[in-house]
Amino acid sequence: MTVAEMLRGTEVVLLDFDGPVADLFPRGSGSRIGDRAREPLLRAGVELPEVVRATVQHLVVLEFAGVRAPQVVEDVERASVAGEVEAAGTAPVTPGVVEFLDACAETGRRVVVVSNNCGVAVQSFLEREGLVGRVEGVVGRPFGRPELMKPNPALIDGLLPELGVAAGRCLMVGDSASDIEFSRRVGMPSVGYAKSPERGAELAAAGADAIAHGMQRLGAAIRAVG
Ligand SMILES: [Mg+2]
Repeated sequence: MTVAEMLRGTEVVLLDFDGPVADLFPRGSGSRIGDRAREPLLRAGVELPEVVRATVQHLVVLEFAGVRAPQVVEDVERASVAGEVEAAGTAPVTPGVVEFLDACAETGRRVVVVSNNCGVAVQSFLEREGLVGRVEGVVGRPFGRPELMKPNPALIDGLLPELGVAAGRCLMVGDSASDIEFSRRVGMPSVGYAKSPERGAELAAAGADAIAHGMQRLGAAIRAVG
């Protein structure tokens, strides 16, 4: 399937948030929220493996808590939500995403944000940027259930019937291997949004059907197929 064929067949775009829409933790600012997420675990005396102790990615901490420390997962979730909402207040918008959303609207394609971040952070960012009307909905991480994050298809349970669309008529756009894996499990094509050639190679290896090096270019490609 060519990229044009894939885009032509797309009725609904499932759009990842952190990356394609916003840079939620610019310049390593994720380390602070990582620390906040670790606090409840350390307070409870949970022993952390090196990878969890050292990561700047709070979602790695949250996933660990879900599996190994369910007694504090809700506290870790609360810290994660607070940190994400705070970050959403200052996160820069991804260049070209407004043009991309315009292209989708002009060609009659609906957009739903599907994020491993919490819905309230995504929503507040969209409000801040005046983009609420550009998306049909927001699906975020369910509270205290990190095991349901992408690549788990359960994150969008019920969504496609609600939208009245088959998976094959959707397109996942995301910047992580987990987005690509998610699309494969759900049975929809995917475009990997890559800010660097390295990330592009990683997403291609994960099985992305196409790689986009800019959201504006992806919007132009959608406009081109109409
Ligand atoms: Mg992302």
